[in-house]
Amino acid sequence: MISLKNISKSFGKFKVLDGVSLTFDNSIIAIMGPNGSGKTTLLKCILGLVIKDFGEIMVDGIEIEKDYRYREKIGYMPQYANYPGNLKVREIIELIKDIRSERSGHDIELIKDFDIDEGLEKKFSTLSGGMKQRVSASLAFLFDPPIIILDEPTAGLDPFAAEILKAKIFKEKQKGKIIILTSHLLAEVDEIADRLVFLLEGKVKLDTTIAGMKNGHGESLGTAVYKYFNKGVPGE
Ligand code: ADP
Ligand code: MG
Repeated sequence: MISLKNISKSFGKFKVLDGVSLTFDNSIIAIMGPNGSGKTTLLKCILGLVIKDFGEIMVDGIEIEKDYRYREKIGYMPQYANYPGNLKVREIIELIKDIRSERSGHDIELIKDFDIDEGLEKKFSTLSGGMKQRVSASLAFLFDPPIIILDEPTAGLDPFAAEILKAKIFKEKQKGKIIILTSHLLAEVDEIADRLVFLLEGKVKLDTTIAGMKNGHGESLGTAVYKYFNKGVPGE
């Protein structure tokens, strides 16, 4: 389980996260919100890539600052894949394998399904945006981690690759994993997530199960969320 208590983070005078409290357990949680609402910063706080100013973050009952090894439980796909451009895809995969202490049990399913093998000898900088995202997604799942964090995973993927990734996300959920992802698409969140957390200006404005949201406010998640924030129906 991941728990965040009263997390705040400012960059200079600008408060990006403002008293965020959330717990995540075995399910698919979607974090949504406008650009700049703090989604990526929140994920990076959990990863220890951004250091919070206030609050407490625990992973499986241990404060993250006390033991960095919790990171081995997490697979992460950043919003923008940014691996050294001069390395070949094969070299990047080997590098990541070397860094992680796990030596066995690699999950190469996505590498296969995404046809990464075709690009193994290409330099990362020469890959298409979609191929970069596929490599990046494959690495998030490679060590079969119990926690998977995906920052706008489908944003740069072609439709087929997006379907492959969604199927993989479902499959990993069945294993009892915590999967946290961000998305801008309510239809996509409706399809894959169990729970929706909506951030606005660094605060949690909505935290609901998808089913509960739809029951209360409309038949699709899109209209439900729209009604919740605007008290109307889009286009009317
Ligand atoms: P989101 O992922 O929801 O679009 P981010 O968490 O990336 O939002 O960013 C939230 C705000 O924090 C933005 O205004 C962004 O410019 C700012 N920000 C993020 N990272 C930094 C940083 N390292 N230094 C300064 N400002 C930052
Ligand atoms: Mg972001």
